[in-house]
Amino acid sequence: MAYKTIYPYNNKVLKEYENASDEDLEQALSAGHQVYQQWRTEDPRSRGVVLQKVADLMKQKRTDLAQAMTYDMGKLLTESLGEVDLCIWIAEYYAEHGSYLLQPEPLDTKKGHGYYLKQATGVLVAVEPWNFPLYQVMRVFAPNYMVGNPIILKSASICPTSVQMFADLVQDAGAPKGAFTNLFIDYDQVARAIEDPRVAGVCLTGSERAGASVAQSAGKALKKSTLELGGNDAFIILADADWDELKQVVPQARLYNAGQVCTSSKRFIVMDSMYDQFLELLQAAFSQVKMGDPMDKATTLAPLSSKGAKEKLQSQVDAAIAGGAQVYYGNQPVDLPGQFFQPTILTDIAHDNPIFNQELFGPVASVYRVHDEAEAIALANDSSYGLGGTVFSSDLEHAKKVAAQVETGMSFINAGWSSTPDMPFGGVKNSGYGRELSALGIESFINYHLVLEP
Ligand code: NAP
Repeated sequence: MAYKTIYPYNNKVLKEYENASDEDLEQALSAGHQVYQQWRTEDPRSRGVVLQKVADLMKQKRTDLAQAMTYDMGKLLTESLGEVDLCIWIAEYYAEHGSYLLQPEPLDTKKGHGYYLKQATGVLVAVEPWNFPLYQVMRVFAPNYMVGNPIILKSASICPTSVQMFADLVQDAGAPKGAFTNLFIDYDQVARAIEDPRVAGVCLTGSERAGASVAQSAGKALKKSTLELGGNDAFIILADADWDELKQVVPQARLYNAGQVCTSSKRFIVMDSMYDQFLELLQAAFSQVKMGDPMDKATTLAPLSSKGAKEKLQSQVDAAIAGGAQVYYGNQPVDLPGQFFQPTILTDIAHDNPIFNQELFGPVASVYRVHDEAEAIALANDSSYGLGGTVFSSDLEHAKKVAAQVETGMSFINAGWSSTPDMPFGGVKNSGYGRELSALGIESFINYHLVLEP
């Protein structure tokens, strides 16, 4: 049984699930297709009522859902509660604005007046990761529920309990059977589902490896795909940065969710004149974290999500050191049974270091020294990733000019990453393509159906 909840705080196996059969998959495809046929001609406003009910039930089950996420992948309960709140916000946003965003657009052409409808396209396969078990699902579920695209979900195998709890809640909210089906399927079943003519597209959030595999299946079957992949986001600190503000922002930008966020700030790019001062600031913040029980409010750093995640991060840090990087702080064993990793600061990472172009998915900060702004921008862009990034300066116009030169999907000025229902989320280069959330995200899988009047 591949789908298991293993609590990363104490390594106990809490729950195991049977894999879905091919028959289960067939039933989900068939039910999903029927729902699509029924929804195609229905007013999306009726679906908004169910989506609002999903939000209401999430409010009622807030603590249960949050605890389930913490048991699944170890994040702090306070962070899980925040994640449930963000999911409620997303559901309510689309329940309220979805039908407006899907209104037909008028079009005046040389051939006369027309308009295009924004219509559903069919069942979608959603492949989602573990780092935000419910938020990642909600980013796809809420907009597509309004559009009328049913979803078959393949969640990460390490977070089955919270995701199944959410799927049950969607049924309880009154969604028709087939509108949203969580299936514990394997990679072959995902590939077969993508090929199925009843499926219109696939969206994946995860690693480059998974993205390439799923996009290949989609391409072969001529299906649309969106990919939300990894990041190695640069945090550029300009010479005029406000130091007090920086102190507030830096720790969370790297350590939130134990550093397991695609848009975490991973590469800190600092001017020579402030380099030593910045390392002291970072060390002061990193040395203050309290590792321990994620359910305890006093804990500030959770374990990593799994044994495999910790082993991978450790091997990347070891390779970085073997390749010449210096450990400025951290990288010491943690005397706790769970999958804890001490916050670590690496410096002197040369261009040929193995981690120079790798995503470190955990509480490890890479700090780079640069001599001027041009060098900072060039270093930020010297990456195969392009997801998010930060520019820190007390001069807003200056920061905006620098941000515009960074090849990335999202830039945050004087702030770490954030996500709200009305902000598009997504990247460029190997960080993927397409956008989720906002008015852009709701249009990822629609048919712009042109109707031209005589
Ligand atoms: P992962 O190993 O790629 O897994 C993501 C999902 O893809 C899981 O459900 C996984 O299933 C599935 N999967 C993997 N290979 C597959 C294949 N060949 N066919 C079908 N499904 C496949 O990534 P992860 O470790 O869970 O997540 C971390 C990565 O996600 C990081 O790189 C992070 O930056 C990225 N991420 C990106 C965003 C964004 O919005 N851009 C947001 C969050 C995370 P199993 O669990 O069964 O292997």
